[in-house]
Amino acid sequence: MTKIGVVGSGTMGIGIAQIAASNGCQVFLYDLNLSQSQQALARLQTLLSSLVEKGKITAQQSESIIQHIQICPQLSGLKDCDLIIEAIVENKEAKVKLFQELEEVVSNKCILATNTSSISITSIAAGLSIPERFLGIHFFNPAPLMPLVEIIPGLRTSPSLSEEIALLLKDWKKTPVKAKDLPGFIVNRIARPFYGEALRIVEEHLATPEQVDEAMKSLGNFKMGPFELIDLIGVDVNFAVTQTVYKDYFYDPKYKPSLLQQRMSEAKLLGRKTGKGFYDYTGTVEKVTPHRDEVLYREIFLRIISMLVNEAVEAKRLHIASDEDLEIAVQKGVNYPKGLLAWGQKIGYTKISETLDKLYQYYQEERYRQSPLLRLL
Ligand code: NAD
Repeated sequence: MTKIGVVGSGTMGIGIAQIAASNGCQVFLYDLNLSQSQQALARLQTLLSSLVEKGKITAQQSESIIQHIQICPQLSGLKDCDLIIEAIVENKEAKVKLFQELEEVVSNKCILATNTSSISITSIAAGLSIPERFLGIHFFNPAPLMPLVEIIPGLRTSPSLSEEIALLLKDWKKTPVKAKDLPGFIVNRIARPFYGEALRIVEEHLATPEQVDEAMKSLGNFKMGPFELIDLIGVDVNFAVTQTVYKDYFYDPKYKPSLLQQRMSEAKLLGRKTGKGFYDYTGTVEKVTPHRDEVLYREIFLRIISMLVNEAVEAKRLHIASDEDLEIAVQKGVNYPKGLLAWGQKIGYTKISETLDKLYQYYQEERYRQSPLLRLL
């Protein structure tokens, strides 16, 4: 596959274009707004120049990447592509309309893919005349740096397509995993309790964000604590993903969003991008060193890790991905120090199950129900 189309030249689109171009593919970049593509390419050029200055890439490599990206003012410029990856606004109608227009200009052999984080692949495919050639290829932000890519076939996707795309992504030095077309795919589903349970602990005044982060980092070796990560992702963006997953699982209480996070979003305390979230980034507030309470830290860690392991075990039970892919996904997509099934084994599934039993007894909430598989492991 040498000719790659990318539609949408925002955060993800330009990153995907950079990956394909770095791997010698000819990239055809289209955006509804032509100046958006021009600005994105100019920004990429600046970024590549700084990488040249730092000695990370050569001047020839930088030049070659830029030369491999061609901006197309019209969608028809993508007519000869072998694969087109869409990264436009997260709206089902807009995506279906775009793919219908693309089907008018490309050959029947062209593979069509979406980078959607939350829309059902099967539902977009239903609007296409050849749904068999359509699938999800979900990159993580920043796409050029994050190795993980989730490949999501829809119910009508041709069975051989996932493997073909996996080989291409491996050629691009990515780590592909295959996921079922269910809300959140792998990572956005099984990582939810990392944020959700942490928020709940703080909402209930059981610990401060600093203590929760310290507990996860010191006892679990997580590179970032939940609140540091939420501030990095954006309090609003993380909240939006939780809301979507909650709604798409027909309001399963396991994924219920946090009112604290809603209020923070409303207050525009969005994290790093606004200078203040759970932490202050303006440099005007002194950093608090949390009071280290070993018993509290252990409780926090066990509670959050048990919820995460339970989610991974449930994903295993539902065949959302292979065991291996479930483990790779959290390590390569959200930088966890080890896979969640490996955590389960290390701590002991019985201990995880007992922890969830205690939470369930205390709260009397469906949120803490166990995967039926957990007691069998
Ligand atoms: P963005 O807002 O940065 O960029 C979207 C671009 O698409 C804009 O330049 C816009 O002009 C263009 N666009 C909108 N409608 C269009 C249309 N009909 N035709 C052509 N171009 C159009 O968005 P983003 O953050 O890059 O996200 C793009 C997609 O990737 C979304 O589906 C999102 O859910 C998904 N995604 C985002 C992230 C992330 O962290 N940002 C991660 C994984 C997946």
